[in-house]
Amino acid sequence: MLTTESKSGNPNITISTQPLPKCDRKPPVPPQKSFAYHRFRKAVHVVCVIVFFTLPFANLMRADIPRQRFYFFGYELWISEFSILFFSLMFLMFIVAAMAMLYGRVYCGYLCPQMIFSEASLALESKLTRTVNKYVRWSARPRKLLSQFLFYGIATLASIVLAFIFISYFVEPRDLLHRLLAFDIKTAGGMAGATTTLLTLLDFLFLRQRFCTTVCPYGYLQGMLGDGDTLIVQYRDENCECIECKKCVRICHMGIDIRTSPYQIECIHCGECIEACVDVLGRLGKEGLIHYVWGEHGEELGTGDKTWYQKLGVRNAKRVVVLLVILFYAAGLFTALSMRRAVLVRIAPDRTTMYSVGKDGTIYNRFRLQVANRGHEQAIAQFSIEGLPGTSFADFANAIVVNAGDTVEREVEIAAPSSAPLAPGVNHFRIVSRVGNETDLVEETFIMPSRDER
Ligand code: SF4
Ligand code: SF4
Repeated sequence: MLTTESKSGNPNITISTQPLPKCDRKPPVPPQKSFAYHRFRKAVHVVCVIVFFTLPFANLMRADIPRQRFYFFGYELWISEFSILFFSLMFLMFIVAAMAMLYGRVYCGYLCPQMIFSEASLALESKLTRTVNKYVRWSARPRKLLSQFLFYGIATLASIVLAFIFISYFVEPRDLLHRLLAFDIKTAGGMAGATTTLLTLLDFLFLRQRFCTTVCPYGYLQGMLGDGDTLIVQYRDENCECIECKKCVRICHMGIDIRTSPYQIECIHCGECIEACVDVLGRLGKEGLIHYVWGEHGEELGTGDKTWYQKLGVRNAKRVVVLLVILFYAAGLFTALSMRRAVLVRIAPDRTTMYSVGKDGTIYNRFRLQVANRGHEQAIAQFSIEGLPGTSFADFANAIVVNAGDTVEREVEIAAPSSAPLAPGVNHFRIVSRVGNETDLVEETFIMPSRDER
């Protein structure tokens, strides 16, 4: 075999020009890809923040405590409609509870505003520290003070904005803005704004995710709602393949080691440790050891030969019943909302005096009319008497005009001349109210004195 050798500059070193012997080295393992839980969560968080900011300003969901109104997806509910209000809130709670039963803590990990802003606060602090360390050429102590100063400043501004949005869920946003600009801390709205700002700031600076494990009851509630089929995050390592790199621990926002147990109260099922493990072991050509699984002994999310609804989490009769209840609840709520009238008329007799007798012998019975216009246009309510011959309204033009959002109350008298063909005692009749095409009949009684008392 022909061999050639060339001399390098160093007489002691000979460089071979022979081709290298063939090597059996395996080609590098292409890194495995996990679902990008971190990016997905951040995208969901952005959507949640947009929704959080939009709901009160678009009147999609907010209360107006001073005006005693509740806005719910286009409906303006009045405090007098407390039943619908109560059922709307119960419906939302039902959905959150059902979600906990099916999908575990995904609300905490993906949708909870407290978690979103805690993570944002941590990320901001670390980003500011890194930026200051990179660009500012001071000694360590002043650099640290500068990054803390910047963080506290931004956190204070963010607290004011977030407190403003939060209070907007209970007070009309323009009204709230006026109070804020006037530095109002004397009225209830102003005091609530100042207190919420302070609490938000303390939460940003000190509490953060500790809130989830100390104050928030939802994590504990989850323990009661979950069962053997609930989606959890679990570490499975039958073949002892964990290389103890601890990337899953370092990545965890809640500071736990998922390998010790899938049922730790701190775990918010965010899935970021799944991605971290796949990232590490994937480079070694191995599968990740942490997975979303349907219960401790269930299969991994998205695997197995289950039906489509089982893959979505509807895995036993209990879940079917829960979903049916939610469906019925939604149908009932929708029916109640669609049957709701924009103009509400109430008629009640005023029995502080049973009747009064005029100088000319006319008999009067007093009634109280109330018209609440919950719609967006002016309404006219017209009234007439049915089944009480010879009577009429006294000093009342038979109609009440009510502007949108207003309530008008009137006391009216029904007059019966002494010659009216009414029996002494109780006479049953109806007051008819008409608003647009809607007509209501209200059964009432007219008290007629005996002939001796007239
Ligand atoms: S990331 Fe995976 S390999 Fe590394 S310690 Fe965690 S479980 Fe073990
Ligand atoms: S253990 Fe994993 S799933 Fe649980 S909170 Fe930490 S990173 Fe998220």
